[in-house]
Amino acid sequence: MIHFFCPSCWRGILENIVICPYCNYDLKDFNALSYDDKLILSLKHPVKEIRRLVIFVIGLKKLKKALPELEKMIDHEEDPIILIEIVKALRQINDKDSKAILEKMRSHRFSIISQYIEQIENPQIKEFYGKTINFNNK
Ligand SMILES: [Zn+2]
Repeated sequence: MIHFFCPSCWRGILENIVICPYCNYDLKDFNALSYDDKLILSLKHPVKEIRRLVIFVIGLKKLKKALPELEKMIDHEEDPIILIEIVKALRQINDKDSKAILEKMRSHRFSIISQYIEQIENPQIKEFYGKTINFNNK
């Protein structure tokens, strides 16, 4: 079982390898990076759960440096759960640039994303839907 990935080409590698056999990346270079830069690089991790966790930490840290990479992810990320995690992180970072990316996500090709943004910004809509459901059940 493979537990380690090359942080450059993201292929599975053995734990003790120093130079990636696929792309020749020197893993010492990765170890020398700052924690924040490691986080940003890990946004490309092939395991979805790891990507989600990385985005969560980026949000907690309000890591503005990650914004360009998060913006790139919006166009090619296929998992709505990851995209929703990006929305949450952008709201936590909450500066001019993150707001601009959030604005862009309102017209995302997945309608669930714009619906989610609408709902967290207007909690009364959720309440309204709740009342509608109750009404129909009578
Ligand atoms: Zn590699």
